[in-house]
Amino acid sequence: MRITYQYRLRLTQKQIDTFEHWLELCRRQYNYRLAERFNWWEQNRCDVNRCSIVCCSIAPLKDQPNRWSQQKDLANTKAIFPEYEELVSHTLQDVIARVDKTFGRWLKGDCNRKKSGRPRFKGKGRYRSLTFPDPVKPEHIQGNLIQLPKIGKVKAILHRPIPNGFKIKRATITRKANGWYIGFNLEDMTVPSLITDVIPTPDNTVGIDLGLKSFLVTSGNQTINIPQYYRKAEKRLKRLQRQLSRKHMGSNRRKKAAKRVAKTHLKVANQRKDFHYKTALWLLNQSQVIAHEKLNIKGLVKSKLAKSITDAGWGQFLQILNIKAASAGCLVVAVNPYGTSQECSDCGAIVPKVLADRWHYCQCGASYDRDHNAARNIKHRAAGHPVLLKAREMSNPLGGVT
Ligand SMILES: [Zn+2]
Repeated sequence: MRITYQYRLRLTQKQIDTFEHWLELCRRQYNYRLAERFNWWEQNRCDVNRCSIVCCSIAPLKDQPNRWSQQKDLANTKAIFPEYEELVSHTLQDVIARVDKTFGRWLKGDCNRKKSGRPRFKGKGRYRSLTFPDPVKPEHIQGNLIQLPKIGKVKAILHRPIPNGFKIKRATITRKANGWYIGFNLEDMTVPSLITDVIPTPDNTVGIDLGLKSFLVTSGNQTINIPQYYRKAEKRLKRLQRQLSRKHMGSNRRKKAAKRVAKTHLKVANQRKDFHYKTALWLLNQSQVIAHEKLNIKGLVKSKLAKSITDAGWGQFLQILNIKAASAGCLVVAVNPYGTSQECSDCGAIVPKVLADRWHYCQCGASYDRDHNAARNIKHRAAGHPVLLKAREMSNPLGGVT
């Protein structure tokens, strides 16, 4: 089982200067290695099997830069720029691993074949974290001091102990708007990743409908409202942003104003995350199986409601829900969203509605709030609807619940 714990750091000015310098070195290295790959890509773009001998014969085909060749080449970097000797060599290698990852995501896609956009060069201050890929041993942590290679002891606020039995696989130093943090990647080999054998049944399943009017409605008609942090903070952000735009480029005052804006954004993000964790735990305490609609968030964000959708942050919520469910032995099911709001959750009839229709009335006598009806449908799609299944089997032997 792998988890991450993050702690706040209390650094000396000298340590901050060192980390800042390292980040800048890593940023330059990142951009250089990215450029190397783009250059190769531009020069050898045609498929290998279609690249005629004639065109290749002008110049010999250069080796494609990959993670290993670029890591090997780091020795040359260190020879030309001796300041790279200051860095931990594994940290520098991690920079290349990052280039490799983002480049791969662009060309081949991730494990689900989902492709990301073209990697971008990182502007000044856009490279924010340093990875120490070597394990931190227990003797490296003494009181609130953590021993790291090349920099020595750094002071951290260990607000919660590292759980027993976990080993620190790697550490990451991150610069955020309100200070520096260290993240430990913890692993416990003795605990296998939980595989749940829970089967959704009408008794142990709760359906949730994620909405804009309220954050979610459960199939038991419980409602959780969206805390509109962003809207509240928006006024403040607007003012700060205005102040920022009036400051001269490159001035100290501009830097300070930019920091204030970044801090407000960070605060909103933290509040939202906290809300997501609390909501996920609340749901998992009620039932073993949580069913939700499969969402196309990327498509939704492009629509008119973008601000409200990113404000609610469903993507992050579902991610947290999945992680928390896995560690609690619960199950999260994504169901086909097609027509969940139109279908009657009692008899299965289609009752057409427009977005403004907030209430579901059906000829069979069902009367529910629109979102409540949808949540019930979602639950039935995951766990089955005994009455409905029977009725459908009788009327249409080939039809099934989607
Ligand atoms: Zn009905």
